[in-house]
Amino acid sequence: MKEKKEENNLMEKIISLCKRRGFIFPGSEIYGGLANSYDYGPLGVELKNNIKNLWWKRFVHQRNDMVGIDAALIMNPKVWEASGHLKEFSDPLVECKKCKRRFRADHVNSKKCPDCGGVLGESRQFNLMLKTFLGPAEEKANEVFFRPETAQAMFVDFKNVLETSRKKIPFGIAQTGKAFRNEITPGNFIFRTREFEQMEIEYFIKENDWKDSFKYWQKEMWDWMTDALGLKKDSIHESDVPDGERAHYSKKTIDFEYDFPFGKSELYGLAYRADFDLKNHFKEAPYKDEETGEKFYPHVIEPTFGVDRSVLALIYDAYKEESERVVLKLKPMLAPYKVAVFPLLKNKPELVKIAREIYAGLKKEFNAVFDDRGNIGKRYYSQDEIGTPFCLTVDFESLENNDVTVRHRDTMAQERIKIKDLVKFLEDGIS
Ligand code: ATP
Repeated sequence: MKEKKEENNLMEKIISLCKRRGFIFPGSEIYGGLANSYDYGPLGVELKNNIKNLWWKRFVHQRNDMVGIDAALIMNPKVWEASGHLKEFSDPLVECKKCKRRFRADHVNSKKCPDCGGVLGESRQFNLMLKTFLGPAEEKANEVFFRPETAQAMFVDFKNVLETSRKKIPFGIAQTGKAFRNEITPGNFIFRTREFEQMEIEYFIKENDWKDSFKYWQKEMWDWMTDALGLKKDSIHESDVPDGERAHYSKKTIDFEYDFPFGKSELYGLAYRADFDLKNHFKEAPYKDEETGEKFYPHVIEPTFGVDRSVLALIYDAYKEESERVVLKLKPMLAPYKVAVFPLLKNKPELVKIAREIYAGLKKEFNAVFDDRGNIGKRYYSQDEIGTPFCLTVDFESLENNDVTVRHRDTMAQERIKIKDLVKFLEDGIS
């Protein structure tokens, strides 16, 4: 019980830090907000972009067998008919007979309402597709849907990508972007919202290779979580999703769960979609083996990564309360600011001038920030709380020696570095 309270408390502290320091704000706040909608602020967008850029570099640029796309959010509704989403993309919904609140049936463990203890009614399927209309008339013919996953465009564009990229199986198509789901019970901050971002790969293979490919991507996902993001291994768990609980298209799914403050919950997923999607979209087999001339439907392994859940896991994983400070121990590569530059004293123009010059130079290479408010200790703590890995101070010695004090976020150790060596020092420290 005590533990649960502490974890709730921690979640509140993280939400408050995110708002106070400009990571994540409640959406439409000046109009009273919009339930479960959030805006990424100046630091949040940096963190999020750093995750997405790292992902793209690792899974697209650094590989020979991957290309990317950036498709429209709203697709022809026939896509969703063919993919089965209009019929099958639903969650079981139950309503409390007393307070009328609605819940996802698979998230409540008893027949009683978690809020008021009232009796829950029968469960029914609720479709999660978010509907809108294109054009001026709100009629059935103009009905369209915001995509509930980025995946389908990778299937629909399969032939175009194949013809223009001249890739051969095995190869993958990657995409990052927004997806929309009319979730029954959004909540837990940015963990479950109705508008969120995904990073997905559809990796096309021959049917016989699916088991090996699945294992390969399972390892790639582990390496991403633990090496690239630096999440604690002990906080990540795999869960093999049993028959009957998998999405309608999947023959095998592993959920990667993370120990969030509110409990163990899905961070990412890995699915074997077989040839389900390509078969639904293409009447004729869309792939021809150049050597054998055989035409066939490639099978697909799908590693999928939620961006917002990555942000939440990273902030939670990195958040540390130490005796005198709160520090976000993010990997330097992911930190919003890489370096902060301070003049020791605000009222000494000779120090301010050099600090400004250093700042202007570093800003060409790194996301840097300048601060001359309050005393040095306060500035350090302010940067610690947002995860800035290095703080540089220009002091009186700098005038003599052309160097600065570099203070390291995690160890709080300090050293002197020559001004001319700073770019190299930071490049090494960040990579
Ligand atoms: P859940 O069981 O939590 O509803 P899911 O199994 O439906 O998730 P997928 O369809 O596998 O999720 O979506 C892929 C990834 O997209 C998830 O692993 C997660 O990171 C992210 N995601 C899915 N739904 C949401 C949401 N409502 N808000 C934020 N991220 C989401």
